[in-house]
Amino acid sequence: MKDRGILIVVSGFSGSGKGTLMKELLARYPDTYALSISATTRSPREGEEDGREYFFVTKEEFEKMIAKGDLIEYAKYVENYYGTPKNYVEQKLEEGKDVILEIEIQGALKVKKAFPDTLLLFVTPPSATELKSRLVGRGTETMDVIESRMNRACEEAEGMDSYDYLVVNDDLDACVEEMHSIIRSEHRKSSRNRAFMESMKEELIRLKQSEE
Ligand code: 5GP
Repeated sequence: MKDRGILIVVSGFSGSGKGTLMKELLARYPDTYALSISATTRSPREGEEDGREYFFVTKEEFEKMIAKGDLIEYAKYVENYYGTPKNYVEQKLEEGKDVILEIEIQGALKVKKAFPDTLLLFVTPPSATELKSRLVGRGTETMDVIESRMNRACEEAEGMDSYDYLVVNDDLDACVEEMHSIIRSEHRKSSRNRAFMESMKEELIRLKQSEE
């Protein structure tokens, strides 16, 4: 049986390119990772599909999910609710997949508190100027929204040091491989391999005794 997967939270400024990064990581390693699909009350952007990028729900539906305890965490971000449905995450971790939650910082900290062995990664563009030009260049948001996302980025920058690793997204290809290798290393942490270490110790003792 495969070991249980690791829960990974990826946050980053809006415009850090983390969405593209996650898509590429999953395309390269489809058997290793599963991406959790969040529920949100914001409207779909052009090209987004219900059940693919998000489950797009009404405020009432979202509040019902909160009341039923269906969400691992949720947060309000620029006037909309975003939350992580519990069932899918639990099922994929059981299957041995590393499950990635692409969520903002309030949610990340809630997940870390509830599940302390969560790996927290923060994605950032190389500079603040680059961040702004990516947001403007995306052309999907109004100037008001861009301004509120830049304000939000200032707040989120304060929380960067709560994360385990910082990933600078300059070159997509290099960044995907770097992220994959950070996660591979995380699997090898001694704290995640207690059962293996115990059985190694027991076997060594057995072998030693059989020689005596
Ligand atoms: P966007 O509207 O650009 O798709 O997402 C806005 C922010 O909400 C991003 O920082 C994204 O990572 C975050 N987000 C998406 N899903 C969730 C979720 O389930 N929970 C939380 N806390 N944040 C989320």
